[in-house]
Amino acid sequence: MVLAFWRATGDSAAMIPKTGPGRQRSWRDDMAGAITDPKQLLAALDLGREWLEGARAAAALFPLRVPHPYLARMRKGCVDDPLLRQVLPLYAETCTVAGYGPDPVGDLRAQAAPGILQKYDGRTLLTTTGACAVHCRYCFRRHFPYAEANAARDGWKAVFEYLDRNPDVHELILSGGDPLTLGEDRLAQLVRGLSERPQVRRLRLHTRLPIVIPARVDDALLAWIRSIPLPLVMVVHVNHAQEIDEAVCVAMQRLRAVGVTLLNQAVLLAGVNDSVTAQVQLSETLFAAGILPYYLHVLDPVAGASHFAVPIERALALFGDVEGSLPGYLVPRLVQELAGAPAKVRLGSGMTLPNPVQ
Ligand SMILES: *Cc1c(COP(=O)(O)O)cnc(C)c1O
Ligand code: SF4
Repeated sequence: MVLAFWRATGDSAAMIPKTGPGRQRSWRDDMAGAITDPKQLLAALDLGREWLEGARAAAALFPLRVPHPYLARMRKGCVDDPLLRQVLPLYAETCTVAGYGPDPVGDLRAQAAPGILQKYDGRTLLTTTGACAVHCRYCFRRHFPYAEANAARDGWKAVFEYLDRNPDVHELILSGGDPLTLGEDRLAQLVRGLSERPQVRRLRLHTRLPIVIPARVDDALLAWIRSIPLPLVMVVHVNHAQEIDEAVCVAMQRLRAVGVTLLNQAVLLAGVNDSVTAQVQLSETLFAAGILPYYLHVLDPVAGASHFAVPIERALALFGDVEGSLPGYLVPRLVQELAGAPAKVRLGSGMTLPNPVQ
């Protein structure tokens, strides 16, 4: 199906297998070849032009971006496809909604220096780039000023200075954008500086790239990971079981083989994964791919994303049913990020409890 699609669009890369020793498809080709024109997206999925005007209006606010390996996992002719729904710009994004703003979780105020976000004890989050492999319409950083807030510039100098001033920081989290859009040379530069600072015990990557473009997990990335003298935790971002195909499973196996701890964060999204079935299938499929569920985020109220909101009572009831359907280790923590809180805030279980035992 994937090959058929590439042939249909005349992509010369169609003949190159996605995986296999020595014949890896370059992730940079997939990045560069991503669909950015709403008309092209609708045509590729056999969808009517009735969506075009809204898509263009919304894409003018936050550009459309869908790489082909992700597109290939969508069902044609289905505007409700759970993957398409995450990336299709809709007219609803252009409406102003009370309570939804440009900086929903207080990221700008949390900056200790440009791109260095200090919210929680012991761990510091770095925004390293504005680039992503895919543009998720609900992204809470869709209005973030990445050009100024970039911790990777100057060879990470500001990060090293920050660590030297803050010896109680034990974990660095690379976020974005997507930190795996950076090449291994930039990443290696960071690791060299970290290896001189024994206060840092763990490195964490928050990335969606290995999911949307599994070819990102190539030999160069694996070589970089093997060179890190610290445990690496990778928190990927999958919202629906349909996102995990065979190529993703192979990529995850490779990461596990070099000792990476794999966790997932998802966002609870109306029309994407707001059912017990979708959540249970997501957890089961993650586990089969070697990933444990970590967080299920309640939508951050970012301007343009209000149509993804699930009312909190419904979220709690749904989550209670999810807890009743899975082993505890496959239940993600339902959390909300509140500006100023000392950690992500865990939301209570919506489980129906039995009467107390007499
Ligand atoms: C979410 C977040 C973290 C990570 O929180 P954990 O609970 O450790 O996963 C760290 N820093 C910032 C600024 C964050 O937003
Ligand atoms: S990959 Fe992450 S940072 Fe990039 S648009 Fe999606 S949610 Fe936002």
